[in-house]
Amino acid sequence: MPSYKAPVEDVLFLLNDVFAFHRYDNLRGFSDASADVIEAVLNEGAKLAETVLAPLNPVGDREGCTRHPDGSVTTPKGFKAAYDTYAGGGWMGLSMPEAYGGQGLPHTLNTAIQEFASGANLALGMYPGLTQGAMAALLVHGSEEQKALYLPKMVEGAWTGTMNLTEPHCGTDLGLLKTRAVPNGDGSYSLTGTKIFISAGEHDLSENIVHLVIARIEGAPAGTKGISLFVVPKFLVNADGSLGRRNPVSCGSLEHKMGIHGNSTCVMNYDGATGWLVGQENRGLNAMFVMMNEARLAVGVQGLGQSEVAYQNAVAYAKDRLQGRALTGAKAPEKAADPIIVHPDVRRTLMGIRAFNEAARALVLWTALQADIGHRSDDAAERQNAEDHMGLMTPVVKGVLTDRGFANAVEAQQMFGGHGYIEEWGMSQFVRDARIAMIYEGANGIQAMDLIGRKLPKDGGRAMMSFLGEVQTFIKDHGEDEAMKAYVAPLQTGLNDLQGATMWFMQNAFTKPDNAGAGATDYMHLLGLVAMGYMWARIAKAALARQAETPSEAMATKLVVGRFYMERMLPETAMRLVRIKAGSETTMALAAEAF
Ligand SMILES: Cc1cc2nc3c(=O)[nH]c(=O)nc-3n(C[C@H](O)[C@H](O)[C@H](O)COP(=O)(O)OP(=O)(O)OC[C@H]3O[C@@H](n4cnc5c(N)ncnc54)[C@H](O)[C@@H]3O)c2cc1C
Repeated sequence: MPSYKAPVEDVLFLLNDVFAFHRYDNLRGFSDASADVIEAVLNEGAKLAETVLAPLNPVGDREGCTRHPDGSVTTPKGFKAAYDTYAGGGWMGLSMPEAYGGQGLPHTLNTAIQEFASGANLALGMYPGLTQGAMAALLVHGSEEQKALYLPKMVEGAWTGTMNLTEPHCGTDLGLLKTRAVPNGDGSYSLTGTKIFISAGEHDLSENIVHLVIARIEGAPAGTKGISLFVVPKFLVNADGSLGRRNPVSCGSLEHKMGIHGNSTCVMNYDGATGWLVGQENRGLNAMFVMMNEARLAVGVQGLGQSEVAYQNAVAYAKDRLQGRALTGAKAPEKAADPIIVHPDVRRTLMGIRAFNEAARALVLWTALQADIGHRSDDAAERQNAEDHMGLMTPVVKGVLTDRGFANAVEAQQMFGGHGYIEEWGMSQFVRDARIAMIYEGANGIQAMDLIGRKLPKDGGRAMMSFLGEVQTFIKDHGEDEAMKAYVAPLQTGLNDLQGATMWFMQNAFTKPDNAGAGATDYMHLLGLVAMGYMWARIAKAALARQAETPSEAMATKLVVGRFYMERMLPETAMRLVRIKAGSETTMALAAEAF
């Protein structure tokens, strides 16, 4: 059976040494997060992930969810008890405001816990994950009354949340949506339509389910400008917070899918269900974007979580499996063969996944920290800078971390040879589960288009200029440091490639949009490579400082893994740049009939 160990030590190193978390004590909620509190929260979160969530991962995969003739859905054995432990531990509201029963702790800390939950049991972790996304949307766009009515119960975990966007004929192009909302004359609306692929749409984990649904109010403009957001509870809620009658919203069927079997993916039928507008009429996509941005970062974290757990199990197997002899002579002559970890090609694979995981974790935590600054700082300039960073990095975290997360799960599976293809080892589940993260919350191709079409040109390219400037300043400040040269010099090369690609788009994409579309995915990965390269340079700096104080094997290891990234992974930027500069000519040359 596969196992999972939450990377607590790595998170602590990143927060304390790399990002100097204590420097942000001026932010709301940060002074409560002393070093001791952070360590205790991470250790408790790790215990929950390792002992409660992880053992249920294969159970959920095997059993899946069951829909009954009355439309109710039961989750796999053990999920309800595990969910109750999760909710009872206060995890749902870890970073929610205290006014609604939350603990008000930094979102950064919550993000680390999200990684643990995703690595331990992606399908189970999605139930609270979606609830946190729904709470974020209500917090920003809900009325005071809606917040008071829904948030405390969601924070408690008594009620869960969902996000209802997709319809049979539209997922990416939500402007095509057909679900209708008719005003009832009392401030509420009647919603009618069908949503598909709704994660956690129906289940037995909570007393009530708070659906956030996008629909078109009668007479609203066509396209995305006529979309509004509604809150539609499974059970209507009385003014005193008690549950009222059942709303006509039901699960028509469950999807049979490739992975995340333990998460109920529902067709949801709205048959005149009562809902209330969230935010302004026809501004629903705007409101939903809050939830989507939150969810996109969380999905990027899912990619990392799957990559980490797959790596851990591949390492254990590679140390155990005996095949062949090392190229340099037997390493375990007393055994029939050497463990496969002696082989350079196996090492290449494991080093590649590890170098990604540690940099991706840093990128995720750095971005989550910017989210905290954006929400909690009193300084307008600091908030703007943080929001710029978030806007730029959200598609990168979502797209790159899930593309690589899946690829790494496959690579880790490869370490098992044929056994990786056999279900009992668990690697197949990691591959199948990791695959969805590339698709939902906006397919990765759409993330790339969002980056190049919206985030890059926004405010005259301010966010990108700020990122390029920050990395360049770091290189300048550390370029002369002999110990840092192995990190800083390759970073400069990668940064030059990123600058080159950005310039090329400015000159060649406005007049020929297909050039932007054809190069978008390469650009997203190019930015991801450089951002992770920057993370490695900062990790190296912190590791060198620690080594100067108290040398340790852990820090020496980090420095080697970082060099591996710089030597063998970051150079991919050159290939990405060449592809971008090739433009769209051959990509678009064939007529559709020629395919
Ligand atoms: C297991 C699972 C869980 C899900 N959970 C939820 C949920 O909780 N809530 C919810 O609302 N939805 C959910 N979804 C739906 C998911 O978000 C959509 O499937 C996804 O956004 C893609 O939409 P689509 O399937 O309609 O594909 P399409 O929009 O038809 O896209 C098909 C392909 O075309 C590409 N494409 C489309 N338009 C463009 C373009 N303009 N430029 C370039 N490429 C383009 C896409 O990248 C994609 O590769 C879930 C889906 C699954 C499978």
